[in-house]
Amino acid sequence: MGDINRKLLVVFVDAFGADQLQRLEGLLGSLPNRKPLRGIVGYTSAALPTILTGEPPSVHGRMCLFSAHEGPGNSVLQPLRWLGLLPRFVHERRRVRRIAELLLSKAAGLTGYVALHRVPPEHFHWLDLPERDDMFNAETVGGARTFLSDARSAGLSVYSSPWQTPEPTRWEQALSSLRTHSPDLTFLYCAELDAVMHREGNRGPEAPDVMQRIVQNIDRAREELMRGGADLTTIVVGDHGMADVHTDVDPSDVLTRLPNMRVFVDSTMMRFWGDNHQLDRARLEIERADLPGQWLDHRMLKEREVPAERYGRAILMLKEGAIFSPSFLGGHVAGMHGYDLATPSAKAALASDKPIPAGCDSLASIAKMIREQLGLT
Ligand SMILES: [Zn+2]
Repeated sequence: MGDINRKLLVVFVDAFGADQLQRLEGLLGSLPNRKPLRGIVGYTSAALPTILTGEPPSVHGRMCLFSAHEGPGNSVLQPLRWLGLLPRFVHERRRVRRIAELLLSKAAGLTGYVALHRVPPEHFHWLDLPERDDMFNAETVGGARTFLSDARSAGLSVYSSPWQTPEPTRWEQALSSLRTHSPDLTFLYCAELDAVMHREGNRGPEAPDVMQRIVQNIDRAREELMRGGADLTTIVVGDHGMADVHTDVDPSDVLTRLPNMRVFVDSTMMRFWGDNHQLDRARLEIERADLPGQWLDHRMLKEREVPAERYGRAILMLKEGAIFSPSFLGGHVAGMHGYDLATPSAKAALASDKPIPAGCDSLASIAKMIREQLGLT
């Protein structure tokens, strides 16, 4: 960076979307430059790699927590098939799943985010976990370099908050670290807003308090980094917004009618693998069941820069505000995201204390802005 007194703070706030940006207006006094951003198709497991690398999901290959297992050898999930020997009411217990997640992470050396949710164990053999490594410390995500690894390679000092640590501890650790070592690049991670809005929707009683707490913590981090007169640039970025859930869709009938097909039921998507004949059959069953959503075929998935094949040869994308309940990820919640690109909840948000460059209008353009700011291009 040449000038040793320039510092960059990037704060990733899960579920800081265009709608949340409007509601936060009054709180974001220190970050007067704001912009909604075009999002991506998929969940945080897709958006975060796009923010970190500047590449779309079709390049970094991440979209959902679970993909189809490809290539030779057994799936990393294969050893967990023993869960299927337990009765469902036991193997679906959060505590049982947590133990399985820890055993799997240890046995397979996984440092990424592992969450088995309610995926039925009989599907483990054909499924895979794309997120194997801790993205904040990995050199690349799906072969694409992150701005964090670029900064480290360039010899800049970098602090990235450990996402594994519970929220309040993570903030306290970050703030106390910034007090003693002021790095060139600070990357903070915050998941609390997403969690509370899943639980109570957009207009619940807790969200305003959470937002206020996040903004206070950001301001505290800014204070620490500006100590000694550093020229600080702050970038707060989200990955998507949140839609209030108004419709629960039960996928059971459709699944029963497609017994020999590989189908994965995410919260907002039903993903299908099979030959054209099987896909036609699946589409017909969806139409018969009158599920509220849009069928995305191979061409439409490519248009949306979705990693082809790995996450389904075709996808039924529910309309915004509907969720599968039950799904392989869980059941009813008050708020959800992960809908098609044009929906309001798919829009992310950006706020900064410095003017936002004109071309910065999508999640994929954030990494470029950060790299330029750090003098890495
Ligand atoms: Zn979420």
